[in-house]
Amino acid sequence: MRISGSTALYGIIGYPVEHSLSPAIHNAAINELSLDAVYVAFSVKPDGLAKAVDGLRVMGVRGFNVTMPFKAEVMVHLDALDDEAAAVKAVNTVVNDDGKLIGYNTDGVGALEALRRAVGEVSGLDIVVVGAGGAARALVSRLSGFQCDITVLSRDPGKAKLLVENFKGRANANIAYGDLSLQTQRKVIPRARLIINATPVGMTVPGCPIDPGLIHSGHVVFDMIYWPPETQLLREARLKGASTLNGLSMLVHQAAHSFNLWFKMAPPVEVMFRAAWEGLLKWGEAGRQPSQR
Ligand code: NAP
Repeated sequence: MRISGSTALYGIIGYPVEHSLSPAIHNAAINELSLDAVYVAFSVKPDGLAKAVDGLRVMGVRGFNVTMPFKAEVMVHLDALDDEAAAVKAVNTVVNDDGKLIGYNTDGVGALEALRRAVGEVSGLDIVVVGAGGAARALVSRLSGFQCDITVLSRDPGKAKLLVENFKGRANANIAYGDLSLQTQRKVIPRARLIINATPVGMTVPGCPIDPGLIHSGHVVFDMIYWPPETQLLREARLKGASTLNGLSMLVHQAAHSFNLWFKMAPPVEVMFRAAWEGLLKWGEAGRQPSQR
């Protein structure tokens, strides 16, 4: 990579962001395609978001990712939102279109792409999503376009209800919600084909988000967490003979869709995968934990 006066700047804002895998993933693709661009991480303190977004705009940064804790808060600082970001109420990708900042959300399409590569078509599946935060909303927004059965379980069923009501009107899917009580889990988990963890349980919160005793060999279990690579949920699922998928593929595919929005070209996904995996291995060796993105 050679940096010159004409090198286009891309990046990520978040806090903390120093351990993000995104610079490694995007710079690997930029290098592979010999683009005159560079992607860097900007650590923005929570009270500095408005100034940071203005700075990125006026300095002509061509595009940037947004990660915790700004995915929702950043929306009011942008000029426009694409329909999906507006429905999901979270932005993870911003395109600077000649000074006009447009917000997108690629988490849902990234998760869907990862799932399709693992299970094939999602139509016809009975799917349980655990969690009702931004990542769950992004995925349900995508899944709801298919004829499938989705049940969103949350420790706060009020949040799951809001999520479901948000997508119900325009969905091809049957969408239901429930709490995370054992009684509800017993009702919905054994009959499901696909179980998705969209909570931090297994990463920042120790444990398993569902009762592992309910997992069986007919399940496909997708944990959005990618560090540790095998969470307690995925370990229990593997021991039961279920198919498992961690969040690395989702991370890479959401990055690939961001890249496409910025550069208007398909990135080398395998190169991005390798960079993400090498980044994870480095952090693993150092005994440290990468941040969300
Ligand atoms: P979020 O908006 O904070 O939502 C987290 C959800 O998990 C909320 O529904 C929250 O419930 C629930 N939750 C938190 N602690 C819990 C606990 N101890 N027991 C049960 N439920 C709990 O976060 P997010 O952005 O949706 O992210 C969710 C997960 O997806 C995280 O692990 C994140 O790392 C992962 N993720 C992965 C990727 C990827 O590319 N692989 C991308 C985005 C996110 P309350 O609302 O009641 O707190």
